[in-house]
Amino acid sequence: MTQVIWFRRDLRLADHPALHEAAAAGPVACVFVVDPTILGRRHHDSPNRLAFLSAGLRALDRALRERGSGLVILHGDPAERLAQFAGEHGAERVRALREITPLGRDRDERVLRALTAAGVAFDPEPGDLVAEPEDIPGSADEGYQVFTPFSKAWFEVPLPDHLPAPERIDGPALPELDLGDLPRDEPLLPAGPDAARQRLVAFIADGHADAYGDARNDLSGDATSVLSPYLRFGMTTAAAIGRALGLPGKISTGRMSFWRQVAWREFAHHLMARRPIVATAAMRPELRDISWENDEAGYEAWCAGRTGYPLVDAGMRQLVESGWMHNRARMVVASFLVKDLLIDWRRGESFFMRHLIDGDPGANNFGWQWTAGTGADAAPYFRVFNPIRQSERFDPDGDYIRRWVPELAGVTGKKIHQPWTLDADEQAAAGCAIGTDYPEPIVDHAMARERALARYAEAKDAAGR
Ligand SMILES: Cc1cc2nc3c(=O)[nH]c(=O)nc-3n(C[C@H](O)[C@H](O)[C@H](O)COP(=O)(O)OP(=O)(O)OC[C@H]3O[C@@H](n4cnc5c(N)ncnc54)[C@H](O)[C@@H]3O)c2cc1C
Repeated sequence: MTQVIWFRRDLRLADHPALHEAAAAGPVACVFVVDPTILGRRHHDSPNRLAFLSAGLRALDRALRERGSGLVILHGDPAERLAQFAGEHGAERVRALREITPLGRDRDERVLRALTAAGVAFDPEPGDLVAEPEDIPGSADEGYQVFTPFSKAWFEVPLPDHLPAPERIDGPALPELDLGDLPRDEPLLPAGPDAARQRLVAFIADGHADAYGDARNDLSGDATSVLSPYLRFGMTTAAAIGRALGLPGKISTGRMSFWRQVAWREFAHHLMARRPIVATAAMRPELRDISWENDEAGYEAWCAGRTGYPLVDAGMRQLVESGWMHNRARMVVASFLVKDLLIDWRRGESFFMRHLIDGDPGANNFGWQWTAGTGADAAPYFRVFNPIRQSERFDPDGDYIRRWVPELAGVTGKKIHQPWTLDADEQAAAGCAIGTDYPEPIVDHAMARERALARYAEAKDAAGR
C-alpha cells in the first residue's frame, strides 16, 4: 500500500525518520501543499522566504527524481487536497513530521479529521527537533521558562542517529513539478540540503566553529554560520549539526558555544509548543497591556533604516536588502523599536517575518519577546539596549555601519557611532550632511529609556504585580 509523505518544513531526504521507514516499507508518494490561506497570512507573506522555499522544493524534487520518485505540489486546502490525493493513490497513511506552532497544529487537526473520515491514518511524528518537548527530563506541563535549566536537560538528550537518504523511493509515476504561483527567481541564498551541508562543512573546516565564542558578536566579521534559513526549512537539522561538530564526543569550547546557540532554537520551539499563547500575546501576563505609542513616523523610519542611529539603520537595511540580519543587530533593532519608540513588539515581529529568509514563528517570536522583556528572559524588562554603546562595542571600527549605510561611508573615527556629533567641517569632509543626507536621531535615547521603563512599570502596577 502506498504511503504519502507530506513535506512541510522538512525539505530533505536524509535524517527524515518518516520517509526512511516509508521508503523501506513500499511505495511512497511525496507531496508538498501550497495552502493559500497559510501562505497569505502575516507569517508567510515574504518574497525572500518564498523564493528560498520554492528553490528548496525544486531541489527536493530533483533529489527525489534521482531516486525514482518526484515531488507533487498540491495547491489548496491541505485537508481537502490530501484526502483527495490519498484516495486517488489508494494510500492508507499520510506521514509528516510534527509542527509546533498553533497555526500548524490547528491545520493538522483539520487534516486529521478529513483524513480519518476518508479512512486514511495521519499522526505527525518526531523528527524536526533533537528532542520533542515531552522527551526533555523535567519538562512537564508548561515546560522550562528559563534557558539554563532547559539547556542542561537538553544537552543530556542523546542525539538521534544519522539516517541516510533512501537510495530508492518507489512510487507512482509523476508528472513534471508544478510550482503554480510559487516564484521561479533565484533566492538570495542557494537552497537545499547540499547547500546547507556545504555551508556547515565550510563553517567547521574554516575554523569558525572553534572561534565562535569570541567572534560571534563581531558584527562585521561574518563569523556566524548563516544556517538559520536551512534549519527553518529543514534542509539541515540540529542533530546533523551536532554530529558534524563532533558530538557526542568532547568538542572545543568554541564549538560548544555554537551548539549552545542551537539549543536556543530548540528552547524557542519548546516554549511555543508548551505555551501557544506566546504566538499572539506576551508570555508574561503582567506585560500584556502596555500602553504603546502609535508613532507611525517612527515605525516608518525604523522600517526604512532612517532612525539616525547608525547601528539600528545598518541592521534594518541589512534585513531588507539581504533577507538576513546578524543576531546582535536583531537584538539592537528590536530593543530600539520596542523600548525607544515604544511600539508594540508584534509589529516588529511581523516586519521581520516579511523580510527574513529564516523567518520562523518560534524563533522570531521568541527573539522579540526576549528583547521586549515580555518573554522567557532571565533578565528583567528594564534591560534596554543602548544603540550607541552596542555600536561602539560590537562594531568598533564602524565597518558594519559603512557596509550597510553608504551615506556614512566617508565618516572616519569614533563619531560614526554618533554622526550627529560631527561638526560642519567633519560633515563636509565625510560628504554627509546630517539632517539632509543622513537623519538626525528621531528620538533621544536617554529620554526614551525612562519613558519605556515608566510605561512598563505602569502596566505591571495595573496588573497588580
Ligand atoms: C528579534 C529577533 C528575531 C529573531 N528571529 C529569528 C527568526 O525568525 N528565525 C531564526 O532562525 N532566528 C531568529 N532569531 C535568532 C537569531 O538571531 C538567528 O537564529 C541567527 O542570527 C541566525 O544566524 P546564524 O544562522 O548565523 O546563527 P549562528 O550564530 O550561526 O547560530 C547557529 C544557529 O543557532 C540558532 N540560534 C542562534 N541564536 C539564536 C537565538 N538567539 N534564538 C534562537 N535560535 C538561535 C539558529 O538556528 C542559528 O542558525 C531572532 C533573534 C532576535 C533577537
